[in-house]
Amino acid sequence: MKKFDLIIIGAGRASNLAAKAGKMGKKVAIIEKSKLGGTCPNRGCVPSKLLIGYAHVARSIKESNRHFINSSINSIDIEKIFDETNKYISKIDPIYKNKFNENVEVFYGTGKFVSNNIVSVNGEQLTAPKIVIATGTKAIKAPHSKAWTSDDIFPLKEDVPKSITIVGSGFIACELANFFSAIGIKTKLLVRSQRILGNEDIDISEIFKEEFVKNVDILFDTSINTIDYNNNQFHLELINKDNKKTNHSCQALLYATGRESNTSSLDLENTDIEVNERGYIKRNEFFETKAKGVYVVGDASGENMLQHAAAQEVNHLAKILLEDKKEALKFKYMPHGVFTEPEIASVGITEQKAKELGIDYVTSITPWIASAKAMSTRLRYPRTKFIVNPNNYEILGCHLIGPESTTMMHQVLTVMHLDNDIRHLKEMLYIHPALSEALLPAAVDAVKEIEKSRK
Ligand SMILES: Cc1cc2nc3c(=O)[nH]c(=O)nc-3n(C[C@H](O)[C@H](O)[C@H](O)COP(=O)(O)OP(=O)(O)OC[C@H]3O[C@@H](n4cnc5c(N)ncnc54)[C@H](O)[C@@H]3O)c2cc1C
Repeated sequence: MKKFDLIIIGAGRASNLAAKAGKMGKKVAIIEKSKLGGTCPNRGCVPSKLLIGYAHVARSIKESNRHFINSSINSIDIEKIFDETNKYISKIDPIYKNKFNENVEVFYGTGKFVSNNIVSVNGEQLTAPKIVIATGTKAIKAPHSKAWTSDDIFPLKEDVPKSITIVGSGFIACELANFFSAIGIKTKLLVRSQRILGNEDIDISEIFKEEFVKNVDILFDTSINTIDYNNNQFHLELINKDNKKTNHSCQALLYATGRESNTSSLDLENTDIEVNERGYIKRNEFFETKAKGVYVVGDASGENMLQHAAAQEVNHLAKILLEDKKEALKFKYMPHGVFTEPEIASVGITEQKAKELGIDYVTSITPWIASAKAMSTRLRYPRTKFIVNPNNYEILGCHLIGPESTTMMHQVLTVMHLDNDIRHLKEMLYIHPALSEALLPAAVDAVKEIEKSRK
């Protein structure tokens, strides 16, 4: 049996923990069944966001009429776009490998627990006093072997499909539909209900829907009844909420219907580790599972499912394991973005959630017209929605829809991080007439709503 100071199962964000521990002289085993770097750089955040630039330029040309400019796209070299994206992905595994010094041994294979402190990989048994599970999630399997999920579209296939049908209504489905349709691949999005981006604040998702349908062909209240694949084509029978059936064909079919726990591969039944009803590993605020010395970080806990959350958790666990600083990590707020056109950024609770919690709150929703830079986009839909606590001016939620929302949101995040009081956003100086200035009237409106509620 091989002995280590630390075993890590899953080389996504936890690769950084392996690298750090190795540099500190710890003997580390890191087990990875696919590529080092995990979901984010190989098949998640990064490749999906590299595609945005292409989509954005194509859309700007298509929509140049809004600025009284007549233009058209001569051609799009989709193969080159795919190739450039794939080039990036192909470098990831070696880049991550280079982060490790001689103290870190990489095992390519599936890690499985033999007992609380023994893990097997490729028939070899490893043990360590500390074991970290960082196995992330996997895409829910597509119901047809020829259909893709977001886990298998990257690296992008050489045979560029002429048409693609995407099933789903979450951010992954929308981001990919945005890209494929922008670059001229015939794209259809199938959404089971009338709601799209159902986790967003309802006002924001309604605006999103109104704008997004202008660019992407969406069938609402529709799902797939039967799937046939022949002559390199999918032949789908679609069914809507009134049981009306229609036929639809496409070259590629992509399921983006959610992600699920990866823990089934771990043989947890050989341990004291407990999972919740969705199969995610239970832990306390120090990332400890029910098995002594075994920790869980990142998506494997099923809590935040975002790269920035997983990365912070890994940094925090490094302090606990390597610096002996046993402090709890509790995120005060969790921001996220939807990198589509329109772009969305969101932090804190939605109005629906505020209602559900039965807490005191007031809301404001303000167009971005006050900023000349925002006006120069000639877009009418951008909005800022605030949900604030009328008792102490705390920002409970902020939701932006408009160009560069994810960048703009950082100003709100800074206030929430330092001293969460909406009045700072009302009183601070803004560069006139930057896009961020659109937050000023939004903060003024939110404070007005608080004052009104107190009369
Ligand atoms: C298409 C897509 C787009 C995304 N976009 C964003 C975004 O814009 N912003 C954002 O914040 N987040 C985004 N995410 C989510 C983000 O990628 C994840 O939150 C993040 O990668 C989680 O990191 P992790 O280390 O917990 O898990 P992962 O990165 O998934 O790493 C887990 C690793 O464990 C390996 N593994 C699993 N089981 C075993 C086993 N038994 N033995 C050995 N190895 C195993 C897997 O192969 C994987 O490499 C996106 C995800 C997807 C799929």
